[in-house]
Amino acid sequence: MNPGDAYEPVIGLEVHAQLLTQTKAFCGCSARFGGEPNSNVCPVCLGMPGTLPVLNVKLVEFILRMGLAVGSRIAPRSVFARKNYFYPDLPKGYQISQHDEPICTGGGIDIDVPGGGKKRIALTRIHMEEDAGKSLHDLDVDTLLDLNRCGVPLIEIVSEPAIGSPREASLYLSRIRQLVTYLGICDGNMEEGSLRCDANVSVRLRGASALGTKTEVKNMNSFRNVERALEFEVGRQVRLIADGGTVVQETLLWDAERNIAFPMRSKEEAHDYRYFPDPDLAAVTVDEAWIGAVRKALPELPETRRDRFITGLGLPGYDADVLTAEKGVADYFEETLASLGGEGAGRAQNAKAVSNWVMTDVLRVLSAGKTSVAEFPVSPARLASMIGLIVDGTISGKIAKEVFEDMVATGEDPRAIVERKGLLQVSDAGAIGRAVDGVIASNMPQVQKYLGGNEKVFAFFVGETMKIMKGKGNPKVVNEVLRRKLDALG
Ligand code: ADP
Ligand code: ZN
Ligand code: MG
Repeated sequence: MNPGDAYEPVIGLEVHAQLLTQTKAFCGCSARFGGEPNSNVCPVCLGMPGTLPVLNVKLVEFILRMGLAVGSRIAPRSVFARKNYFYPDLPKGYQISQHDEPICTGGGIDIDVPGGGKKRIALTRIHMEEDAGKSLHDLDVDTLLDLNRCGVPLIEIVSEPAIGSPREASLYLSRIRQLVTYLGICDGNMEEGSLRCDANVSVRLRGASALGTKTEVKNMNSFRNVERALEFEVGRQVRLIADGGTVVQETLLWDAERNIAFPMRSKEEAHDYRYFPDPDLAAVTVDEAWIGAVRKALPELPETRRDRFITGLGLPGYDADVLTAEKGVADYFEETLASLGGEGAGRAQNAKAVSNWVMTDVLRVLSAGKTSVAEFPVSPARLASMIGLIVDGTISGKIAKEVFEDMVATGEDPRAIVERKGLLQVSDAGAIGRAVDGVIASNMPQVQKYLGGNEKVFAFFVGETMKIMKGKGNPKVVNEVLRRKLDALG
């Protein structure tokens, strides 16, 4: 038997999301990513003696959004604590965080489990903290420090040890990414580090209730890496235990190049944070009125939007899932539909047409170019006007594919492309009739078959006529004219 079958993984994730506030958590410096190194700093975030932090209220508002969206209990009073450690990217010598009195506890995040059904991953807590700076080690001579990130607000979302596989972990992480972007509190960019995840892993005999000894894996900066790193670490622990060994509690770093996780030097992980309440910051109090106001202002959440796409727009569940997976894509879809317009049944028809274009063509181009919808060269209004050209018979669906590729390449207006390339659909019965006459004259054997009752050859005639018309014939008129002329021969 494969030892992997006897054991089950137990995973708990600690996810950090960098908040999209204008300013930092405890000073007025800009919290934006990028910028000249050390340009967004001040005495407070540099930890100069004698300076005092002032809490950015937006930080509380943003974490309340998250807490309410996932059903956490909101503490009427929570406390900032100092987490003490020494590292060059932390000039104060401590990080302001929350420890034993966090603002959000409990709640959960639903994932669609592989093979069907939903599973709710319970959350332990969500708390507020500040980020540290960045050390740049890539010069051989020195370590350089960029402290722009010092004091940028974060929320940390801690799950219970309730995630049952590497796949579930990555699904859970995508749900968090989806939620924070819908809530407008984080851009969800894992490559740039706005969304980060540390994974705690243990294994135990399948069905056992006690938890095994855990390790913590760090340094995974994509969904793919999270899954691969967890698979590696689960496999390592299972083999170790199956061979009679024991897991040592330690912190591992994922190396994506080499496809392994290796232990950090033990000096770096020997932590004694000596937490204590930050004497410079008052306790955070949140009253019912504030909670009520944030709840009322919550944006539409992914599940609600998905349901609205199904019941309000008549889209199939599959389409609704694909379109709402990313907020940017759902926005793009809705803007295109709004620009196309339509009412009643026409609106539902347009919704499906737009959905088809977004799901197949837009998403294909995005995934091929590994870009986001924000950078997509075709605006919703232009895609809508192209679909409009199909609806009103100006171009055929087949020609539209060609126009779309051209729009992606040039960003040009679809009408301009159609005119420049002479792609107008031909609906004129006279012109189509001449093409049909030619096709009939040179395919008499097939005409006999058709007249003999073989309906399948009709498609052959449509194809031949379209070929002669270079794909520009209006399919409806082509069908009508063909039918009329062929039947007249019988
Ligand atoms: P630590 O004291 O090491 O920070 P915590 O108890 O605070 O550990 O938990 C940190 C994370 O590790 C949480 O997400 C929690 O669910 C997870 N975790 C705790 N124990 C285990 C375990 N035995 N196996 C897997 N994950 C665990
Ligand atoms: Zn500052
Ligand atoms: Mg902990």
